[in-house]
Amino acid sequence: MSCDFLLRANSGVRTLQPYEPGKPESELARELGLQRIIKLASNENPLGPSLSVLQTIEDHASRIHRYPDGNGFQLKAALAEIYDIDAGQITLGNGSNDILQLLASAFLSPGDEVIFSQHAFAVYAIVTQAAGATAKVIPATDYQADLDAHLAAISDDTKLIFLANPNNPTGSWIWAEELKAFIRAVPEHVLVVIDEAYAEYILDDKMASAISWLAEFPNLVVTRTFSKAYGLAGLRVGYGVCSLQVADLLNRVRQPFNVNSLAQAAALAALEDQDYLIESVQLNTQGMAQIEAKLKQLDLNWIPSKANFLCIAVNQPGRDLYQKLLRQGVIVRPIDTYELPNHIRVSIGTEEENEEFLIALEKELVTN
Ligand SMILES: *Cc1c(COP(=O)(O)O)cnc(C)c1O
Repeated sequence: MSCDFLLRANSGVRTLQPYEPGKPESELARELGLQRIIKLASNENPLGPSLSVLQTIEDHASRIHRYPDGNGFQLKAALAEIYDIDAGQITLGNGSNDILQLLASAFLSPGDEVIFSQHAFAVYAIVTQAAGATAKVIPATDYQADLDAHLAAISDDTKLIFLANPNNPTGSWIWAEELKAFIRAVPEHVLVVIDEAYAEYILDDKMASAISWLAEFPNLVVTRTFSKAYGLAGLRVGYGVCSLQVADLLNRVRQPFNVNSLAQAAALAALEDQDYLIESVQLNTQGMAQIEAKLKQLDLNWIPSKANFLCIAVNQPGRDLYQKLLRQGVIVRPIDTYELPNHIRVSIGTEEENEEFLIALEKELVTN
């Protein structure tokens, strides 16, 4: 059979490596026949969904024969009020990944350049390559994005800069003052996308959400998600905020019903359940301290993190340790594909989950 048509797929797509997600619990259960599995691999909220969100989903389930509100009126109105912006500046996405994809669809063509850091979130590279654009990956210094080097790399062909704050998988962050100076220094022909997927976990006054600077920078886009601190990863809902003009462009390439009705209702309920959010952030702070204390005792290094995960230097191939931990029923994330071959990334879980992870980790380190 002639497969000439395969060679005619978009050139970026032909060489694209697909995103490697965290291993689902059900898959490991099937493979190893394990009963108890601890998944700390996808930076999900370990509390489970908020009860008011569950109730809201039940209440809305009887209406799933109807299309969702394609304009997400209520959810956008609630977000607009929170941030004191125009609802037209908000684009809802099927997860914030969708917004990253929309940005690429709206702005990128072959020949365009996109700048992001080494160790940056994998989706930036994927949407860039899929659009046929060229990635300029800026070497990190000490696992941190080198902002001066980002600026120096900008050319006439640069269309987008992707920058996560904090970044996944490193957990590293950028102080407000430094970030604002950076955005100010980026020429106006370049869109700066600040990915704030973990913003809710930040408790430090020296940090700021770039959303508060939108009025100042027409070329700024900020992405947020309900997948992490709000505990809605399975529903797929996130959003981007930017100028009305950029939002208008994103809206043109957006699928008409990209965010389903249960996700919209649940996100609205999640915004209202501040107690759940506070509890989630507290649990994260405690869990981070719990894990760090044990890592110190085990004499392991880690990258300081302001998110809900830690990137741990394990002094051996992280993928090997990942496999060994799987056999103990603990799922973490190998991050060799992020050029971190001797680290693993572990999401902060409940106290009990963290404890089980640490016991499994110590066991592997002692027996090897
Ligand atoms: C998890 C994550 C996202 C969000 O993904 P969703 O599509 O909203 O689930 C975006 N950016 C980073 C850096 C992330 O880690």
